[in-house]
Amino acid sequence: MKPDEKGWLPDLLYVDGRLVPAVALIADEKGTILRLSREREDLEPAERLAGRAIFPGFVNAHSHSFQRTIRGRTEYRKDGKDTFWTWREKMYQAANVLNPEEIYVTARMCFLEMALSGITTVGEFHYLHHKPDGSRYPDPNLLAKEVVRAAREVGLRIVLLQTGYARAGWNKGPNPGQARFLFRNVREFIGNLTALRVDLGKRYAPDEVWVGIAPHSLRAVTLADFREMNRYGREETLPVHMHVSEQRAENEDCLKENGKTPIALLEDEKQLHPGFTAIHAVHVSEAEIAALRAAKANVCACPTTERNLGDGVVPADRLLAAGVNLALGSDSQVQIDLLDDARQLEYHLRLLREERVVLGPKGLAAEDQDRLAGVLLGTATEAGARSLGAPGGSLEPGRSADFLTFDLRKPCIAGSGISLAALIFGTDKTAIRDVAVGGRFIVRDGCHANEPEIVREFEAVQAKLWGERCR
Ligand SMILES: [Zn+2]
Repeated sequence: MKPDEKGWLPDLLYVDGRLVPAVALIADEKGTILRLSREREDLEPAERLAGRAIFPGFVNAHSHSFQRTIRGRTEYRKDGKDTFWTWREKMYQAANVLNPEEIYVTARMCFLEMALSGITTVGEFHYLHHKPDGSRYPDPNLLAKEVVRAAREVGLRIVLLQTGYARAGWNKGPNPGQARFLFRNVREFIGNLTALRVDLGKRYAPDEVWVGIAPHSLRAVTLADFREMNRYGREETLPVHMHVSEQRAENEDCLKENGKTPIALLEDEKQLHPGFTAIHAVHVSEAEIAALRAAKANVCACPTTERNLGDGVVPADRLLAAGVNLALGSDSQVQIDLLDDARQLEYHLRLLREERVVLGPKGLAAEDQDRLAGVLLGTATEAGARSLGAPGGSLEPGRSADFLTFDLRKPCIAGSGISLAALIFGTDKTAIRDVAVGGRFIVRDGCHANEPEIVREFEAVQAKLWGERCR
């Protein structure tokens, strides 16, 4: 190891789908991985991480950080049936009382929890833009910048997916709960986004903070608006993310308005491409999955949110069999646990089908069971990095040294033979002990340096929010 290099030597390192001993991870001073090494001159000076296994950091491709405020406050129903749509009204209530400072404090809390659970990059699908009455802040990008500031204070890489929202839905009158989200026209939206890119570029490194464009959904924007946003995203090579087919009602409205369901429509209009990510894609047909595959587009599932909202089950079996890149998101923050999201991709299908090992490669032998765990881990790491254009996602030369460690001495791991399957299926996120972004630790031994202050300030926001404003 040269003096300007950094290295770490865990008990086990995750390489090419396997856990291997006695391999050091070596990075340059900027935090880019140079090599995985078994050479003595690398093993000896590397920082010894005894009792730990190193994995790539998780990539959270879909987050709405402000929704952290409503965790545990929507688990009741007044009368009739509670659904996504009634949950959404409660979510709007909180969205419409937070001021810019509180949005920052909430985002910081949410990103802290992400860091502690092994997430190194977040894609923030950001649609709070204006004052609650819809009037503009002097800087129209104020709230986006507050969210970015929060992520960088915690130490996460962030992709600010600036979200365009134009209407309550097809044939629907304005919803006053959405005044903070709405743009007047696409030109205004793209102008603000361009200014945001310039401002962020002055303050942050391009691999720490970058932007994407996110037409909210085909209920919130027209096809014409979508086309313009998608064109800008493609021309500027930005990630393009959109909620797609989360709810059946959304498909039905799109059918009525456009004569096709969302993905079929996008395919017909030649709007699918490798930079596009369909968030959810729960209610999709075989032909739509084939269209996603043909366009090399991505899907981001959010299983812990989808089960909380009663959305339905992402057809991970059909998507993976077709070869679609399948990433994960924490979405509503009801839980922040990408390891659990990865497991739920498989578990939801087991419950539906009343069978086991649905996503495992065919011909799976007992001694080869780590392959299923590797597939699930890939959704939480590499697939998310591809969806967001992030520099981490795998531990290979040229990628960023974004990694986490599992504490192999935790009771949940003890005696399991320390297989990949035992780690993915049997551990909880408290076994994640260290998290590094670009080779710099943001979490050590389960602690983040600013945790007490971040938690205290968030608790104060919550006390005001639920004690005074949202009762
Ligand atoms: Zn979402």
